[in-house]
Amino acid sequence: MKQYSKEIQQLITEINILKKEKNAIILAHNYMNPEIFEVADSIGDSFELCKSAQEIECETIVFAGVHFMAEAAKLLNPSKKVLLPSLSAGCFMADTINAEGLKRVKAKYPNAPVVVYMNTSAAVKALSDATLTSSNAVKIVESFKEDTIIFAPDKHLCEYVQSQTKKKLIPWQGFCHVHTNISPKFIQKQKDKYPNAHVIIHPETPKRCTNLADHICGTGGMSTYIAKHPEIKTFLIGTEEGMTNKLQRDFPEREIISLMGSCINMKQISLENIKRALENNTYEINVDADIFNDAQKCMTEMMRRSA
Ligand code: SF4
Repeated sequence: MKQYSKEIQQLITEINILKKEKNAIILAHNYMNPEIFEVADSIGDSFELCKSAQEIECETIVFAGVHFMAEAAKLLNPSKKVLLPSLSAGCFMADTINAEGLKRVKAKYPNAPVVVYMNTSAAVKALSDATLTSSNAVKIVESFKEDTIIFAPDKHLCEYVQSQTKKKLIPWQGFCHVHTNISPKFIQKQKDKYPNAHVIIHPETPKRCTNLADHICGTGGMSTYIAKHPEIKTFLIGTEEGMTNKLQRDFPEREIISLMGSCINMKQISLENIKRALENNTYEINVDADIFNDAQKCMTEMMRRSA
């Protein structure tokens, strides 16, 4: 284990005791601060965590991530209590689309199925045909028989998927400010500084930046790529900077350098509020009964089509 202060070690011990008492598990997104990994039962991207939520036996799931992820865990685990330690942990990209906006696009393309990124509310999922993530987006799009598909909300992921498929994708104009707030000039400067490094960039990033990458993939794919390239000692990582903590933990002998800043939403989660969540059952995430079944179907379609 990494060396932490006495206070942090004490919190880790207390959380691990509370987890046992409450029959709870903690799912931690890759972007969390490293001390949160010490109390996590599963660490991964939103898709990997959804699968873990279904597989691990427990009464309570504490989601160390953002709101849409906790909602997705609830949709797949209706009988389990799902807690999000901070209600401030939202997602700017998920906020770029709502049910009313999606209804307007659907009215324009009445025969087109709708695929939505995990980064959407349950209300938006309830109006859509399948959820997707960056790791399975192409496969999900290809799984539809229709040639025209509405793709929301991330316009950059849409552009990337469009480059991999003959289907016609209708993009929503959403984006993530963390992945968009990076310049090709900066990436090139880092490439010049580390000429032997491989550059891995998330497809939520604009094409002008992914053009400079050796490999484009979601966070789950980054570990796989590094594991496959033992000859490369240095990697420049183009996604939320917390990912470098996860990769450095998994590959301590490599040099892992971040190209991006951090997401203030993800950083709302701390050991302190995870402990409070377990003590007080805060904040329980539920999905309205009138949209639950449709939103759940949208999630299970992703599981079915990506299997
Ligand atoms: S990094 Fe971007 S997409 Fe991910 S939670 Fe933060 S705002 Fe949302």
